[in-house]
Order: sequence, then structure tokens, then C-alpha cells
Amino acid sequence: ASARVHNFIRHIIDADLKNGKYAARHWSGRPGPAAQQKVGAGDTAKIRTRFPPEPNGYLHFGHAKSICLNFGLALDYAGACHLRFDDTNPEKEEQEYVDSIIDAVHWLGFDWKGNQYFASDYFQWMYDFAEKLIEAGHAYVDSQTAEEMRASRGTLTEAGKNSPYRDRTPSENLDLFRRMKAGEFADGAHILRAKVDMSSGNINLRDPAIYRIRHATHHATGDAWCIYPMYTYAHPIEDALENITHSICTLEFEDQRPFYDWLLARLAELGCVNTPLPQQIEFARLNLSYVVLSKRKLIQLVDERHVDGWDDPRLPTLVGARRRGFTPEAFRRFNEMNGVTKSDSWIDISVLEECQREHLNETAPRRIAVLDPVKLVIDNYPEGQEEECLAPNHPQKPEWGKRPVPFSKELWIEREDFMEVPGKGYFRLFPGNMVRLRYGFVVKCTGCDKDADGKITAVRCEYMADSKSGTPGSDNYKVKGNIHWVSARHAYAAEVRLYDRLFAVEAPGEGGRDFIADLNPDSKLVITAQLEAALKSAAAEERFQFERHGYFVADRFDSRPGTPVFNRAVTLKDSWSK
Ligand code: ATP
Ligand code: MG
Ligand code: MG
Repeated sequence: ASARVHNFIRHIIDADLKNGKYAARHWSGRPGPAAQQKVGAGDTAKIRTRFPPEPNGYLHFGHAKSICLNFGLALDYAGACHLRFDDTNPEKEEQEYVDSIIDAVHWLGFDWKGNQYFASDYFQWMYDFAEKLIEAGHAYVDSQTAEEMRASRGTLTEAGKNSPYRDRTPSENLDLFRRMKAGEFADGAHILRAKVDMSSGNINLRDPAIYRIRHATHHATGDAWCIYPMYTYAHPIEDALENITHSICTLEFEDQRPFYDWLLARLAELGCVNTPLPQQIEFARLNLSYVVLSKRKLIQLVDERHVDGWDDPRLPTLVGARRRGFTPEAFRRFNEMNGVTKSDSWIDISVLEECQREHLNETAPRRIAVLDPVKLVIDNYPEGQEEECLAPNHPQKPEWGKRPVPFSKELWIEREDFMEVPGKGYFRLFPGNMVRLRYGFVVKCTGCDKDADGKITAVRCEYMADSKSGTPGSDNYKVKGNIHWVSARHAYAAEVRLYDRLFAVEAPGEGGRDFIADLNPDSKLVITAQLEAALKSAAAEERFQFERHGYFVADRFDSRPGTPVFNRAVTLKDSWSK
């Protein structure tokens, strides 16, 4: 267990537990409203949190913060965390998104232990509660146009005006509401509003809309309903029905908390929901540089094919991160490190990348890959001969052992590891210089071959037969350069994708610029690399460090047995910081 940041939400929970705020709740077999008994009442959890995505897109790095926070609190406090699909909006929700959300939360390493709910399962209760509110004089049907309603809502400095329909009697309201439900009216003809206070200093309390007419087919309830609850009405009810204790959301909902409390207090008075009531707590959302975390923008990137789908390794979606080779552990570490606060701030993407690097450094076996190959010919090495060199699987973990890598007369080396005319401080191959072929022999460069255009086609050298790494006397050779290589005859020529940041600037779209214009044109480079033979048998999603190059993963979808394709997750060093 790691030292956890003692954030302000923990202070609230600690105090609630100390004061026994939720102790009066019987999580099962409790008397009380029938609706509430059915949901989330199956265990003895001390607190209940929830992660409530709307299934209208794939989860992104911002959602990971909310997931780590809510599930993390439940784990730490012997509580439960629900996975709730907030699917009260009929138009944009799809099963594909539901499935992808389930996968992503599991991938991050969290388990809701059967507490999986759909807000649309509560439609009947939400409707019944609305009738109760109407009967008690807490809600009314408004028949103003949307423009009239907007105009009478007032402003921050000016109170709103009561609707001419505000004093309809409960029976008149009930009749209209039932006819709304029966489908008698067109979209927008009427709306149900809570009757709170049109002069409130908080605009969210000026009789917010709670039910609207929408003749649309819902992904789960089909055409059963033509009226749908508004988020501000639905969300508190979902929390109360599931016996949530701490309903954690992002800061932009702060102004809605008074209505959250007002609504649940009325419903508790009316016997619709049990007390103690859930409490809403707001925290600052994750803002990350060099990415966009808005579903609308992510959808645009996918639809306009700036990326290769939702799981493109360059996207800040969790499916994209997984495909890129990022690890769930690193996401959890990143979120723990950042903690939760009450004020908005920006985090540089390099912080997340560094967390990935750290975790991959600990867990990824080392392998050798030549990304920009040129031949190295060892003129004094016998034709047809081959032997094995031993390379450690992890320099800090001798217990991971060593593996044999084949050595032969012709090797692949990086083109940049040879210079015909060396620059200052260049210690790698140039005519007359000696370097060590890592885990192999010391060689002395003798020259190079060129084609008609002057392009180097092969580097030539001679090896020192008594210099093999690990053999007695091998360290008598003092050389400054140490380069990696793979035997050309044994190498596996693989497709490797070098991914970089999708955007070239810190704040894409800043200052009203079209964020598409900020795309990094070099965010994806597909190459054929020469890999050590052992990588041929890499399994999909296996991660490695390619020495000197960074961390790579065998693509989970494009790899075939015997022909894995690799994606670069992250380089060894941050090449973006100045
Ligand atoms: P978008 O505004 O892009 O559509 P959303 O916030 O509406 O995203 P939801 O599916 O409603 O998406 O979000 C589910 C949960 O994830 C919410 O509780 C929300 O507060 C949280 N969440 C979304 N984005 C972030 C973020 N950037 N940082 C922290 N939490 C977030
Ligand atoms: Mg949303
Ligand atoms: Mg939102």
C-alpha cells in the first residue's frame, strides 16, 4: 500500500464515519421506500460512491481520474463503488459505448462487484416521484416557449419572473403531465419544472426544468417513454436510490448542489427516498496539456479520420492508451500522485508519460531493436559461422536471467551509429575507431560502402576475437562507444509504429483557434525495423524496452502469431521538454 494523499474528500469521509452519519442506514432488509431497497442494498459497505458515465463515447484520461478516485475511496474505506450508466438521454447513447466502458474500468483494475446499474431502469420511479412532487405543489407544467423561459429566467444581477403557468393547480399539472407521458404533445410543447424560487441568487434554483418531451427511441427502453428526466433531476434520484453516501463530481456542478439538496429533501419529506441523504462533493477535473479531453472533440477526431478510430494509440482514450502500451498501474500512480483538489489546474502530459516510463522500466524485459538499419559487415569473421552472446533481460533484475542472441558476420546497426567524418564528441563507429557491440565483441571500423548516389549501404569493420563480453580479458579493451545490433540472418523484420503526441502545442485550440490546426503532422511514423529474433514470438499486448529506444508493445489487434507488430508507448527520455 502506498502513502495516500490525505485529500479534502477523505477529511469529509473521515468526519462522516466518526459522526456516524451513515451508520443509521441499513444496507439490506431496511424498512423504507420500496424503490430504494432494491438497489445497491446487498452488502454492508461503510460508504458508497459511484462512477456514472454517460454511455455516449469512449472513456478518456479525465474519466480515469474519476474512476481511480471513486473506486479508490471505496477500497480504502471498506465501501462499495457502483458503475452506473447515466443513460437518461435517449439520443446519443449506444451499447457499443456501454461495452467499452465496462472494458475500460476493468482494465484499470477496478471491480464494481455486481453493482452495475442503468439510470434508465429508474425511469418509472423518477416518473412516480414527479407525480408526488406535483401533488405536493413542488412542480408544475410550464407551457411557455423555450425563448420565453430563457427570457424570464433573469440574470445574475436580475431576478427571474414567474411563469404565467406557475400557479396551475396540482390536478391541472397532474393531468398535463400524464398527457405529456401519454404522447399527446410534440417535443417542446410543455415542460415540467420544479417550483423553487424565481428570485434566487442561484439561477439553478429558478424553477429548473425536470422533465422534457422527447419523442425518441432509447437504447434500453425503446419507445416506452416520450418524456425524459433532466440530468439535474435524475442524478440526485439515482444517487439516493442506490444509497450512495458521497456523490463525487467535477466543479462545474457546484452551483447545482443547492438543487440536488432541495430535491432530495422534498423527496425525503414525501417518503420517496430514505435518509440520511447522499451528499454531493465537487473536485477539480483533470486538465492535461497536449491533448483534448472533450468527448465532442474526440468524436470529431475520429469521425473526420484524423486518427485511426477510438483506440488509436495517439488518442487520450483508455482504449487508445491500452493499445499504445500504457499500463493501468501507471494511470493509478499518476492519479494518486496528483491527488484531488478544489481548484482547476493543468498537468503536463509529460507527468503521465513519466509515470508510464517508471512502471514500464520496472516491468518490461529488455530486447534489442534496430529502427533505422544499415548493415555492419565484419570482414574477418568467418563466413557461415555463428555463435551466441548473452544479453540480460533486465539490468537491475539479475533474477530475470539472460537470453542468447545470435551473432554472425553481418549485423544490422543503427544508421546514426556510423559517421564517415565524426563530429566532436562522437564515440561510435567511424573509420579507425573501436566500439563495443553491446554483449558481443569489440570491433574496429575500417570504412564503408556506398551506392552511386553516395548513400551508405554497409559499414565495414574487423572484430577482436578475444574481446567477447563475459570472457576473461574482454575488458582489457577500453572503448567509449557501445552500440546495439542484431544478426542480419536471424533478425525479424517487423512493422513498428512510432507514435508521438497528437498535438504539437500545449493547449490545442487555445484562443479560439481551430484545434484541428494544432495537430502534430508527425504523430505517427510506420517503419520496418530489424528486431532480435526472440521478439518474433511476442504475444499481443506484451511490453518490452527496446534498448536505447523506449518502451514498445505488441499491438493487441494487428499482431499475428509469429508476426507481431509493435507500437511505441513512450521514449526513454522526454524529448519534448526544452
Ligand atoms: P464530456 O463533458 O467530455 O462529455 P462528461 O464529463 O460529460 O464528459 P461523463 O460520462 O458524464 O462525461 O462523465 C463521467 C464521470 O467522469 C463524471 O462523474 C465526470 O465528472 C467525470 N469526468 C469527466 N471528465 C473528467 C475530467 N477531465 N476529470 C475528472 N473527472 C472527469
Ligand atoms: Mg456528460
Ligand atoms: Mg460533461
